[in-house]
Amino acid sequence: MGDGKGVLSIVGIGPGAEEHASRAALEAIAASDLIVGYTTYIRLVKHLIEGKEVIKTGMTEEIGRARAAVERARDGARVAIISSGDAGVYGMAGLVFQVLEEIGWKRGESPELRLVPGMTALNACASLVGAPLGHDFCAISLSDLLTPWPVIERRLEAAAAADFVIGLYNPASGRRTRQIVRAQEIIRQHRAGTTPVALVKSAYRKLESAVLTDLDHFLDYEIGMLTTVLVGSTNTFMFEGYMVTPRGYTNKYTWDGAALPGQTPGRSLVLSDESGTAEEV
Ligand code: SAH
Repeated sequence: MGDGKGVLSIVGIGPGAEEHASRAALEAIAASDLIVGYTTYIRLVKHLIEGKEVIKTGMTEEIGRARAAVERARDGARVAIISSGDAGVYGMAGLVFQVLEEIGWKRGESPELRLVPGMTALNACASLVGAPLGHDFCAISLSDLLTPWPVIERRLEAAAAADFVIGLYNPASGRRTRQIVRAQEIIRQHRAGTTPVALVKSAYRKLESAVLTDLDHFLDYEIGMLTTVLVGSTNTFMFEGYMVTPRGYTNKYTWDGAALPGQTPGRSLVLSDESGTAEEV
């Protein structure tokens, strides 16, 4: 127990390999005395944490781990709680806030919170197969351990009907295999069987693999806990072994930039916010 204010860093370390973690993430880990996380993720950064205290536990002990991290940081330690990808995307960040709420923590009190973003599996996996996320997309986790299955089905149905590119997290595990089969049925009701599908496993880790297939055939391949499934929209196409979702420009413009007949050319807007930064859209 120290007298000073502790620090709780909630850190996303990216998909795996260190070059895909941000420098801010690596620095937050280096600046901490206590590292908390799943065994697998601790292993990914083990060379960074020599000599540090580590609390690693299995997947099912999340609440205890979040509580331990919060309490130690409140009492003055510098703690990093790590998730793969981004800690706020199906990661530990939300749970940490729930623990903070439960203990009555207020802004300005110990611990100071530092949230460090990470590259999520969706970005990492997309980069291995082309540009599948070039237009509106969504993420749906097929894990029904914490979410009732009817809620997941409703979201699959809505996303499929609205023609989003769909990233399926937690598609299957050893015991949980029927959800991905049902997901395929639902999406197939709204999209052709030839819709491109990518299965990316262990992106930027040792056993990385990527398979490009389609909606009718993707269940013929191995899908597990370390796989992310990317299902194309009705606009997604295959090109030279890449999966591409266009932004739609070629529907409206010719390649030299002129508007096609019947199309109104867009105007450039400059939006500015109070801080004076501007973004061209
Ligand atoms: N916080 C993480 C997601 C954790 S949920 C993130 O932002 O990426 C766990 C699921 O993420 C896995 O079941 C898998 O679908 C996906 N995933 C995580 N890391 C991955 C990787 N390196 N390659 C492929 N999929 C991955």
